[in-house]
Amino acid sequence: MTGKLVVVSNRIPTGATPSGGLVVAVHDALTRSGGLWVGAHPDEGTPDQDGLTEIASGDYTRLAFHLTPEEYDSYYLGFANSVLWPLCHGRVDLVDIERGFEETYLAVNARVARLLADQIGEGDIVWVHDYHFLPLASELRKLGITARIGFFLHIPFPPLGALSTLPSPDDFAEWLSAYDLVGLQTRRDTASCLEMFRADPRAEFMTDGSVKFRDRSVSVRSFPIGIDAESFAEAAAVEGPDAELGIDMHEDLVIGVDRLDYSKGLPNRFRAFGKFLDSRAGTGRRASLLQIAPPTRERVAAYRAIRTELEEIAGRLNGEHAELDWTPIRYIHRGVERDTLARLHRRARACLVTSLADGMNLVAKEYVAAQDPEDPGVLILSRFAGAAEDMTEALLVNPYDIDETSEAIETAITMPLEERRRRHAHSLGVVHATNVTDWAQSFVSCLKTCTPTLDYRRAQ
Ligand code: ADP
Repeated sequence: MTGKLVVVSNRIPTGATPSGGLVVAVHDALTRSGGLWVGAHPDEGTPDQDGLTEIASGDYTRLAFHLTPEEYDSYYLGFANSVLWPLCHGRVDLVDIERGFEETYLAVNARVARLLADQIGEGDIVWVHDYHFLPLASELRKLGITARIGFFLHIPFPPLGALSTLPSPDDFAEWLSAYDLVGLQTRRDTASCLEMFRADPRAEFMTDGSVKFRDRSVSVRSFPIGIDAESFAEAAAVEGPDAELGIDMHEDLVIGVDRLDYSKGLPNRFRAFGKFLDSRAGTGRRASLLQIAPPTRERVAAYRAIRTELEEIAGRLNGEHAELDWTPIRYIHRGVERDTLARLHRRARACLVTSLADGMNLVAKEYVAAQDPEDPGVLILSRFAGAAEDMTEALLVNPYDIDETSEAIETAITMPLEERRRRHAHSLGVVHATNVTDWAQSFVSCLKTCTPTLDYRRAQ
């Protein structure tokens, strides 16, 4: 197969040299094969513009489609982030279904499909990323596109029962069956996806493990995503004064780095840290939590609510525990430069990842990559993060259990060196085995070779 690679993702990089693990991996894959990267224009809610705008080109081309302000509200903030995101993260209570959300979601996907169809040639392969584009392949098939199309879901696959929350619950299986390959983060997600097909009378399981759905077949597999561990470790090891990072090295530092999202379990994390502070009261031993959590999607009510809740808990805990020269919880609402973040990770004795649901969680992998293997810190990792499936030697916790999480902080901070080294070596092995470049290559090569689909035109 000699065609080009066409990648579709909500965000596309705008600079000449993209940064960020996933973005770099996709950039490298496109640079190798040549091709196209299509995504939403970074100026959200730009006035109505038809067609694709070229953003940058070199070894491959980047093209952007435009969303009107109404589309941005209904498609991006609405169906994608107020229906699909909470649904996939097990928060059906936060699903906000409004008339018009699904219609706009389908209309945007149909329009992107029309724009893409003109760009897809014989032998090309198409790689679609994430929940913004679930119906894209089915729209492309309607236009007669027979190219191999793969889909990777970066977030958890929804539990079967939760799919009934969708306005048209049967659509999920229908949308996914238009792909040749569906990639998921974990074996558990793969099992959930197969369970959905198993429960669907339209699906049939083939002897090679693929799923036949009407006249197509789709392969479902897990491809755990990772990071560029070497470059993160290099950035972490850069020497510099601790004062530059604002760290008092006489304190034990515990770090948390997350988008301010309700799926990250931040209130539980703060409460667990509060319990841990209670348990240390009067011992004279100080530990601080540095929480870096820039707000996102603030036009969605659930995101405003989590911000208010967290500020209230942090304020109360600091009020109870702070001393004149010490604030136990430092809570920063901004993004931090990647290199600074890497250095902070290396200095932290423990990292708290307490997601209530998470596709993978790259922060867990970044923390492990940033450690000094001779004197590593300890990762406290939620059982509900995809990363926990393989990082079994992290201190795994149930983030709903505040006592357990609080005890894990104490265990992490007081863990003997030998145990820290042993646990870290195991986690680092996992981080290296799931390098993001290999991840992109293995998805693309699987897409090229996975079980052949039936000829779509013949099947019509
Ligand atoms: P999600 O994709 O749900 O945000 P992940 O943990 O998988 O969660 O990925 C988050 C990425 O964003 C990581 O690479 C992390 O380093 C980065 N990140 C998160 N918060 C910040 C921040 N405050 N400043 C800089 N980078 C951040």
